[in-house]
Amino acid sequence: MLDVGRHPNIELMAYSELTGITGEAGNFTASVLKKARYVDADKCTGCGACAEVCPTPVSDLYNEGHADRKAVYSWFAQGIPSTHAIDPDHCRVLQGKRCGICAKKCEADAIDFEQAEQTVELKVGAVIVATGYDIFDPVKMPEYRYATLPNVITAMEFERFLSASGPTEGHIYRPSDRKLKSEKAVLEKKIAKLAKTLGRFEKKHGQNSLDFLVALTTNTLELTDDLAKDAQKWAAKAKEYKAMADRLDILDEKVSAVTTAKKLAFIQCVGSRDMRFYPFCSGYCCMHSIKEAIIAHEHDNDTRSVIFGMDIRAVGKGFEEYKVRGENASRIDYKRSRVAEITRGENDSPVLIYEDTATRKIVKEEYDLVILATACAPVKNTPQIAETLGIDLDRFGFFKTDPVNPLDASREGIFVCGCAHSPMDIPESVAQASSAAARAVQTVMKSQKAS
Ligand SMILES: Cc1cc2nc3c(=O)[nH]c(=O)nc-3n(C[C@H](O)[C@H](O)[C@H](O)COP(=O)(O)OP(=O)(O)OC[C@H]3O[C@@H](n4cnc5c(N)ncnc54)[C@H](O)[C@@H]3O)c2cc1C
Ligand code: SF4
Ligand code: SF4
Repeated sequence: MLDVGRHPNIELMAYSELTGITGEAGNFTASVLKKARYVDADKCTGCGACAEVCPTPVSDLYNEGHADRKAVYSWFAQGIPSTHAIDPDHCRVLQGKRCGICAKKCEADAIDFEQAEQTVELKVGAVIVATGYDIFDPVKMPEYRYATLPNVITAMEFERFLSASGPTEGHIYRPSDRKLKSEKAVLEKKIAKLAKTLGRFEKKHGQNSLDFLVALTTNTLELTDDLAKDAQKWAAKAKEYKAMADRLDILDEKVSAVTTAKKLAFIQCVGSRDMRFYPFCSGYCCMHSIKEAIIAHEHDNDTRSVIFGMDIRAVGKGFEEYKVRGENASRIDYKRSRVAEITRGENDSPVLIYEDTATRKIVKEEYDLVILATACAPVKNTPQIAETLGIDLDRFGFFKTDPVNPLDASREGIFVCGCAHSPMDIPESVAQASSAAARAVQTVMKSQKAS
């Protein structure tokens, strides 16, 4: 991406959307909507000072909602260009409130709340569609209880957990345990605030809040006029404090028992090879589950992973060897089975119910964390993109291409590559992208020769 950003013949138009295309192969006019960033791209240095001071946290979709970003943000740290953008749905100023802290902090004077979206027209010879994929929504498989069991996550979420720059800094903490930790932190803050209020009563009346509460409930309190005025409020606050302190004791015990997740279950073909959803194999998920299990083991030697699948499809140069290495060096157990159901066990641990096809026995087994290898689905707005471009979709909802010229869409001069075409891994997507670029050059040269 860095090379693309620096290339003299490539103009990168990030945060933009194709809204229309007219003309024909070799001579298209494309309309592109440049969305308002509210940050001047020519001035922004990508230093991130604005995001540091912005007081508005927003759930971070790049981290699959397991961390927060700010209302002024960059999608991810290595993004090209590094220009920040302001999220108009959450920024206080753009929601009509008072703030502007980012503008005061930005030394490059790049914040521009008046910036408007803009439509530009480009003369292009060919178009390459590389809009990629969305992950299949596992909520559609209620038997895996993705929506209700906190420790059932997708492989994409697990990628973020494994990342040193992710929400858990590469440590595999279960979502339910992280929730306990944040609940404890919030409670500690509330207790500290309440302690200050109680402190004021204690100073004024010269006695400890708990002693006061005991005396009040046992009718042994000497009520002065001054104390009578405060007694009701003080007692309510003291009771609240005691309830919170009791809850903190429980949380303390639970949090001190938290360790990283050691027993991992990977479930393959979630939405793939399933006639209810996508009958096709998504191609890359067997390999990414093996990769994730190997990395988890590298992070912590005690980690044990079981990969549940109908079969493991390690198709590609060196892939079978990688699978065997996972078994030998990272102690991955490949289990031939289609998991039937996941239920809630003790301490939010997911319980898998499956038939062990080797022993023909139904097994119920508890894991720390379950990782779902979800299918490669067409990007949600694929039909709109197809309509804009005037091209067809295939029966699964990916862009349709010519079986003889597999990168050519149904309209001349438009090409498709990567997962916009069909499920494929990164090396295949990159190879297809090079081929699509070559096909686009052919189209441009053909039209130049003709004119
Ligand atoms: C959990 C997981 C782990 C994986 N791990 C590996 C791995 O280790 N190795 C490997 O080879 N493969 C891996 N893959 C597969 C890999 O993600 C894909 O092969 C690859 O991302 C496909 O690249 P792509 O460019 O076609 O699509 P994408 O990576 O999806 O990129 C498409 C881009 O287009 C943008 N876009 C979408 N719509 C529009 C629009 N209308 N206008 C402008 N832009 C748009 C998107 O925002 C996105 O940036 C993994 C997949 C998953 C789910
Ligand atoms: S003006 Fe908006 S983006 Fe800037 S600091 Fe305030 S909330 Fe954040
Ligand atoms: S690659 Fe593996 S997990 Fe993915 S759909 Fe194919 S068989 Fe299932």
